[in-house]
Amino acid sequence: MTDLDFDKHHLWHPYTSMQNPLPVQAVSHAEGVRLFLEDGTALIDGMASWWSAIHGYGHPILDAAAKAQIDKVSHVMFGGLTHEPAVELGKLLVHLTPRGLEQVFFSDSGSVSIEVAIKLALQYWISLGRSQKSKLLTLRKGYHGDTFAAMSVCDPVTGMHHLFKEVLTKQIFVSEPQTPFGQPLPAQELDELRATLAAHHSSIAAVILEPVVQGAGRMYFYSADYLCGVRALCDEFGVLLIADEIATGFGRSGKLFACEHAGITPDILCLGKALTGGYLTLAATLCTPRISSVISQDGGVFMHGPTFMANPLACAVAVASIKLLLQSPWQQRITGIEAQLQRELEPCRHLASVRDVRVLGAIGVVEMREAVDMATAQRFFIERGVWLRPFGRLVYLMPPYLIEPADLQHLTQAIHQFAQSVR
Ligand SMILES: *Cc1c(COP(=O)(O)O)cnc(C)c1O
Repeated sequence: MTDLDFDKHHLWHPYTSMQNPLPVQAVSHAEGVRLFLEDGTALIDGMASWWSAIHGYGHPILDAAAKAQIDKVSHVMFGGLTHEPAVELGKLLVHLTPRGLEQVFFSDSGSVSIEVAIKLALQYWISLGRSQKSKLLTLRKGYHGDTFAAMSVCDPVTGMHHLFKEVLTKQIFVSEPQTPFGQPLPAQELDELRATLAAHHSSIAAVILEPVVQGAGRMYFYSADYLCGVRALCDEFGVLLIADEIATGFGRSGKLFACEHAGITPDILCLGKALTGGYLTLAATLCTPRISSVISQDGGVFMHGPTFMANPLACAVAVASIKLLLQSPWQQRITGIEAQLQRELEPCRHLASVRDVRVLGAIGVVEMREAVDMATAQRFFIERGVWLRPFGRLVYLMPPYLIEPADLQHLTQAIHQFAQSVR
């Protein structure tokens, strides 16, 4: 049995069947923006391993940080113990994230950081003696992860989790924002949210949303005014605001954090994906002192504590990754990627198969009129030396920030050719 045969019969991949799995490629190693397959094929990576590998693969500074930490301690429990990587990372996150977020909870993955955010919000209201505030309000077309509380706030139809609708907590949904990024918001676009908060605020703990960029559910960039409006409405109706920046954190949208487009501070912020530069799984949930002090009053403790909380190896690489980002001309790079994506993807708009083209920061999206056949698309892109993985009607790219213009052009050309090939 070859390795690929074993994989096919024994290993689950994300969102796949064990009976009829889509083909997978075996990666032997990766370097810079290139993935090398076992047959020697080199692919330019347009996915940054799902938003995470912002510095590309095998970066010498991140490699060195991981090796140095392994020689000290790879993991140690966080109950009753602490360590320099966690403290250093905590300092960076408190310093860099929007002003007012001061307490940090480290966890293992994006979905878990969402569970933690939701639990913080619920426990805050329970500590205030207002446990009837137990619902979440969210936007349609959102994506917040695959665990149960996270699933309950994913889009109920397109969110990949409708199978479980009977067991998921029923949350409150409002329409997704319609005004694109960069455009002023018509006042009525917040009417539904205002009316819903007015009617239900006494049972709502928090609004949870992806600021500015609705990712996996939609790949859409909405007006920053909308986010400002949500912040104001949350304050008016006494509801917390949870910002899920798992995809947008660390520069992807052109600002270090997408909340900065609106100049707002959420009450709770979730980070993941690019946190370690794509090296190790780690996430963080930050909150305001108001939340942490209410939860901690009268001897209260926050009821969460994963085994691998604040894993030192992951924290050490995260510290190195964030410092590397800040020392790099990241804003200039992302502005350059944005301009090139606009220039080179825009011609797709005129193709009959294409419904829309959108670009923000280092994210480029070609929305097709019909759902793309994943297996066909995969083969098409691999034949052209690029790694892209469309889903539904969305062909998109979010490359490592240090990609060279020639490599990026290779990616955009492949997307244009693909859109041309679809009738
Ligand atoms: C990826 C993602 C998550 C889930 O993170 P995992 O690490 O996959 O659990 C949650 N929210 C957003 C916006 C994401 O993009």
